[in-house]
Parts: sequence; C-alpha cells; structure tokens
Amino acid sequence: MSDLLPVSFTYDLENHLESEDQARYERPTRQFMDLWADRGVRGTVFIVGEVARRSPNLIREIADAGHEIGYHSHCHRPLEIETPERFRQETADDRAFMEDLTGKPVVGYRAPSLSLTRTAVWTTDILADLGFRYSSSVLPAHSPIYGFPGAPLAPFKWRSGLIELPTPIFPTRFWGVPYIGGVYLRYVPAALIRMAHSCQPKDNVLPWCYLHAHDIDAEEPFGRVRHASLMTSLLLWMNRSGTYAKIERLFGAGGALPLGGPLIERIENELDTDALPFFDPDRDLGRHPRQAAAE
Ligand SMILES: [Zn+2]
Repeated sequence: MSDLLPVSFTYDLENHLESEDQARYERPTRQFMDLWADRGVRGTVFIVGEVARRSPNLIREIADAGHEIGYHSHCHRPLEIETPERFRQETADDRAFMEDLTGKPVVGYRAPSLSLTRTAVWTTDILADLGFRYSSSVLPAHSPIYGFPGAPLAPFKWRSGLIELPTPIFPTRFWGVPYIGGVYLRYVPAALIRMAHSCQPKDNVLPWCYLHAHDIDAEEPFGRVRHASLMTSLLLWMNRSGTYAKIERLFGAGGALPLGGPLIERIENELDTDALPFFDPDRDLGRHPRQAAAE
C-alpha cells in the first residue's frame, strides 16, 4: 500500500496555437483518454468554450467515459486582461452550452495558464455567483509566468465560499515549481516528481496533476502562443517526445503515483470542506501594492 496521496489527473483541453486542424488537439486527447480507460480511472477535463463548440463529439465522448467536465475559459485569455462584464457573460454562456451538450453539471473552473493572481481575485465572486463550486487556478508562489505568492499551499475558500484547490508545488528558493503538470512535468525527472510528491502536506489536501494535448504532441511545428512571450512559447514547444512515456511511468499500470478520481467527487467524499480556511488577500497579506500606489 502506497503512503503517497492519490493524484487526480486533470486535463486542460485547449487549442493553444489556434490551429485550423482539430486533430492537433483531438488525437492526443483521445490518446490520454485511452490511457485513463486502461487504468480504469476517471478525472477532470477542463475545456475551453471555443473548443467545446468546435469539437462537440469529443466533449460528449469525454463525458460519456465518466470524466468530470470542467471549464477552462472562453478562449484561453489570461484573467489579468479580463473585464467583469465579458467574463461573466462568456462564462455563463459556455457553461450552459457544455451542460446542455453533456447533460452533466459544470462546477469546476481552471484559469488559463493558472492566471488567478492577486489582481484577478474578483473573478472568484462571479464564479461562485454563476454556480461554480470550486476553482483550481492558483499557483501559490512566485512564478515566471503567473503566480500568487502568499496564497495557501493547501485547499482554502475565497470570501464567496468558492473552494480553491491550489496547484501542488515544490517550493524552491526563487520560484514555486508545479512539479506535477504541463511543461514542468516534461522537464522534471520522474524520480524527482515522486520525491517532491512524497514531501507534500498530507492533511485535508487534494493533489492533482495537469496535462494538455501539446505536452505529448512532438510533431507540432513551433508557433507563438497567444498571450505568451517568445521564451514561454519555446519552453512550451520543446521537450515533448519523452513525455508520454514519462506519464505512463508515473501514472500507467504499476506507475509510481496512485491516481484519485474527479476533483468534485474527491471534494465531496474526501475533503472536510467545513474545516477549510477562508483566504482574503487584503486581510491576510495587507493591501495590494497597486492599490496602495493609487491612493
Ligand atoms: Zn490552458
């Protein structure tokens, strides 16, 4: 019996280069779905609204396979450039579309590129208002892309009551490294991933990994990712060829890490939600520097 906490697989379904070729993201997605079916596990798939409208059959297949359907923004626009009116409208429309399409409730949210930073906390009020139960959108540390230093490392609640499941990270001196997802999973050796996971907090937590189609699509030509720098685009493009084998080593049959189920089921069955602390950045971290400068 492993003493490691189970990891829920989560998958962000997006069209990150806005390719005209739907097979670019559909093929690797089906490859992942086959892997999880072989393992007999279900997880949570966060879907970009535009992709749901473009690939409805794929979305139905994912839902029919028993995975939880979550929402991953309308078009992968980072939260820092969102506006409240547009965010509310697009989120409500896409959520209704995906619920109609799959016949399943959509209560989980993931921000594009984990961009729920301190300037975007207002989005959590709207999400709760629209009926979302949880978010898994915060990288609770300094990060070269988006990060929320000072946010709790373990699950917590926003003032609206929305539950946040922060990205599991391995804190280093400069950055928090989400050792178990996306581009980080590609670069961190499997043995180190297992070691980092064994060091995680164990009390009332719910660890998850996150993956994308492009993480295993070694044949994709280089392209600049919208809303990302050239360096980030390069990092996202490189080092893909060994990723699928690494994922099998970590999560395949007899893999190094035990797998949990869909996030909403684990929230309901494993998490003591009444015991989760509230996190209010203005109260807990002091006024935001931008707010102070404006006064
Ligand atoms: Zn994404």
